[in-house]
Amino acid sequence: MKIAVVGTGYVGLVTGTCLAEVGMEVTCIDIDQKKIDSLKQGILPIYEPGLEEMVLRNTEKGRLQFSTNLAESIQGADVAFIAVGTPPGEDGSADLKYVLGVAREIGRNMNNYMVVVTKSTVPVGTANKVRAALEDELSARGKNFDFDVASNPEFLKEGAAIEDFLKPDRIVIGVESEKAEGIMSKVYKPFLLNGHPIIFMDIPSAEMTKYAANSMLATKISFMNDIANLCEIMGADVNMVRKGIGSDARIGNKFIYPGIGYGGSCFPKDVKALIKTAADHGYKMQILESVESVNENQKSVLFNKIQKHFNGDLKGKTFAVWGLSFKPKTDDMREAPSLVIIEKLLAAGCQVKAYDPVAMKEAQHIIGNKIEYANDQNEALVDADALLIVTEWPEFRSPNFKVVGKLMRDKVIFDGRNIYDTKEMHDAGFTYYGIGVKPYY
Ligand code: NAD
Repeated sequence: MKIAVVGTGYVGLVTGTCLAEVGMEVTCIDIDQKKIDSLKQGILPIYEPGLEEMVLRNTEKGRLQFSTNLAESIQGADVAFIAVGTPPGEDGSADLKYVLGVAREIGRNMNNYMVVVTKSTVPVGTANKVRAALEDELSARGKNFDFDVASNPEFLKEGAAIEDFLKPDRIVIGVESEKAEGIMSKVYKPFLLNGHPIIFMDIPSAEMTKYAANSMLATKISFMNDIANLCEIMGADVNMVRKGIGSDARIGNKFIYPGIGYGGSCFPKDVKALIKTAADHGYKMQILESVESVNENQKSVLFNKIQKHFNGDLKGKTFAVWGLSFKPKTDDMREAPSLVIIEKLLAAGCQVKAYDPVAMKEAQHIIGNKIEYANDQNEALVDADALLIVTEWPEFRSPNFKVVGKLMRDKVIFDGRNIYDTKEMHDAGFTYYGIGVKPYY
């Protein structure tokens, strides 16, 4: 099959590469010339475990190509995936200008039947707009051939994107013709051999499924953060409570870890967009509005603990920050809680020495040189008044606490991800603060 993927970011690059991996002929297209030039040289614009080897392997085999020329790259394609960004507009709604711009460009250049598939996260009704854009452009060219639109939201998780794409929990596809269903079945057949289900549905339901999934996950996080905050007030320990409720199969033990708020390029914008879609249609998403406000507050809990510990006297203090990306195994800094915490520390007159295994370059684009970037996690600790755990990278889980304590000025840890044990911290002589955990006396 011949596939065009428009938008070569986290989603487009993973989609294109994984489809090439199972033998399809794929061109990944982007308007960013620098990105495409680097990819042609085998240099990846993003960090995603395992992706580089896969890109190189498939480029070498000639199954994966990169281009800025959409007009040329879609010729003869069976499927064109639209995987460009849908950032939040000022009012919180998903900005569709990139998606519809690509649809128009496809309409201006397509010369054969194809299925035009929206992979970007888009509100219900977008496929209709994509279809209208294609029809407009085709009729402006005096062409009248058949095409289909489809919705195929992506559920991959950054940091585990390849595994998620190759072995999906499910593939959701909204279609409105048997022909499109047949073609999409063929695209995903290689991934279904191991029993992963494909769920066909109508297009609006597919578009809604993505928002419902992300909103449910964000709700789980905010719910647990609320419970964690209450645990602290009431003298309970959220780690115990989490185990207690997670063992109930109806609740499950995934995604019920409290922390310092969700971030990333998806949850914040998708929750906002769903609230806005509902409001536009006269409905109030009461739960999601609370999910959002709990999340906003949660980004400040670590800073509030810091202020309390130091009695508000933060000026001139130095903080080591371990982890900058919004979650481990990615360099994605979009809406990362680290940004809020660092901004507050800087505003309070503190110095920040940060270390992240892969996100420091990205962080530097956003924060610049207002903070120091350490070469390794121990370097960040030198003369620090406290250590902040902001992202739970595996390598932070089991440091040599004797070394940690020696390097720091004061043995204080604010753990925003609850990766350490309170008793162990106590025994190692640290003052330890977690999220919703009981201090060890
Ligand atoms: P991204 O910002 O990493 O990539 C988008 C790419 O599209 C960029 O490289 C940009 O240059 C390119 N682009 C923009 N306009 C273009 C055009 N006219 N022609 C060609 N290329 C163009 O975005 P992403 O994280 O990959 O997300 C893409 C979509 O997928 C969003 O709607 C997002 O909500 C959704 N999504 C993202 C994830 C994730 O984990 N990142 C997961 C599931 C769904």
